[in-house]
Amino acid sequence: MSQQSSYPIRCPKCAAEQTISLYDAINVADEPLLRKQLLENKLNAVTCPDCGFLFRVDKNLVYSDAGQKLLIFLVPTPEEKYEQGEEQFISMLSELSGMLPDDMNAPSVHLVFSRVELVERIFLIEAGLDERLVEYIKYTLYTRNASQVDPARKALLFNATDSTPDHLCFVVQDVETRKLEAMLQYTREAYDGLVEMFSADGNSADLFELFPGPHISARALLLREMSESQEPESFDSDPEN
Ligand SMILES: [Zn+2]
Repeated sequence: MSQQSSYPIRCPKCAAEQTISLYDAINVADEPLLRKQLLENKLNAVTCPDCGFLFRVDKNLVYSDAGQKLLIFLVPTPEEKYEQGEEQFISMLSELSGMLPDDMNAPSVHLVFSRVELVERIFLIEAGLDERLVEYIKYTLYTRNASQVDPARKALLFNATDSTPDHLCFVVQDVETRKLEAMLQYTREAYDGLVEMFSADGNSADLFELFPGPHISARALLLREMSESQEPESFDSDPEN
């Protein structure tokens, strides 16, 4: 069942306050219209009664689709707080697992940190793709196109609309301007090759080691690698001191 609660919301433009009902959880198998609203960026949208400003409230949201055996937790989190976001999610899940009936068929549980990641994940799962493999592909695309796709400034997003039976499509998005800038392709044949390679004995462990989760993101991994390599090797004494 979908769930709504009331929230006091302040207009970001004129600061007028109103109490409004927003979705905490949506069950799109029961209410497919909510999936449509989410994809059209109309879910949890608010119009200010005073100035008419239309804005979207970014809040925690649970997306469930029984048909796809899919459960995605959206916890809006800025880049610099990804680590804390993961820790909070893990402790929340362990609390939750005590409340679930034993015979419940566990769906695959996903954690995303933005609405863009949520929409991407929905399309990816609906296309029958594996999220770790797709992030692995992104990792290789970032590495191969390092001059064009700097993970610090560019995000790579799976693009279901332009993907074909022969190619998986990825768009390059500028993180700051949100502009879509370029398209990269990856052959479905190569994807199938990866599926085979990683399903071979022992190899799937490598993929889980690279992307242990719960937040599975090639860009987050690359940013972490970059910040670790920039950390000073040693603390040489400063001649000034
Ligand atoms: Zn307003």
